[in-house]
Amino acid sequence: MTRTNASANPAAPNPSGQLDAWGWIDYSVPSPFSRWRWHIFVNRFLICLLAIVAPLGAQSEPYACPDTAVTVDAGSPEADQEVCDLVARASTQLASCSLEITRPLTITLADSLSDDCYGQFFCEDDLIKVLSPQALAAAVSDDSIYQALPDDTFFQGILVHELAHAATDDMPCPFESCLLGQEYISYAMMMQSFPDDQRTMLIEERFQRQIYRDEVSLMILAMAPEVFAQKAWLHFSQRPDPCGFIGQIVDGTVLLDTEHF
Ligand SMILES: [Zn+2]
Repeated sequence: MTRTNASANPAAPNPSGQLDAWGWIDYSVPSPFSRWRWHIFVNRFLICLLAIVAPLGAQSEPYACPDTAVTVDAGSPEADQEVCDLVARASTQLASCSLEITRPLTITLADSLSDDCYGQFFCEDDLIKVLSPQALAAAVSDDSIYQALPDDTFFQGILVHELAHAATDDMPCPFESCLLGQEYISYAMMMQSFPDDQRTMLIEERFQRQIYRDEVSLMILAMAPEVFAQKAWLHFSQRPDPCGFIGQIVDGTVLLDTEHF
């Protein structure tokens, strides 16, 4: 999904000037087919949250989420705790499909990301970055399928997606990269995180049919990630044992990727 120009300068500080004090880390990200993992996001939930905590004005230290290996730096203790709560919910959902987050992770917010991404997972740094609330608000295009979602629902899905990347980064891969398998899992888990009635609104009528395995491809991912999201969900949900299918991808029994020459 590409970013719109809804805001001429999404990185500009809000009226409180809070963004200037956050000290975002700037990472560059190569193509989506490189070793980097990348992705997409948005939500008014955090916008409201940050508006509430803005008067505090102080930059917080990274916060270790209880009972996890996740550290959050969302800009304030209150925001850190909110993100930790969302991480806990996401971890519970992923665990229901036997996806465990065992590696240490740091989650930070950013006011801009490369490659028109909403969020990114940097596997070598154990780092997840998500656009800041102000930038996220400007990033969802009017014609995006995700416009139909409540903002907090979409943000939860975003976290699920990136955490799924972290949970599958070390899965067996006979090639240089198994990006397709990882993205399939991340998008399927993201879509699964949405309530049934809200997810139904995202599925275009033309895809209301059986989805075949070769319809979920890297080409679709690159050219039309929202179509990929729909087809990955439908293919996943049409399996006799959806979570079992995820497990087969993770243990290498099912290989969605192919070698690229
Ligand atoms: Zn992804």
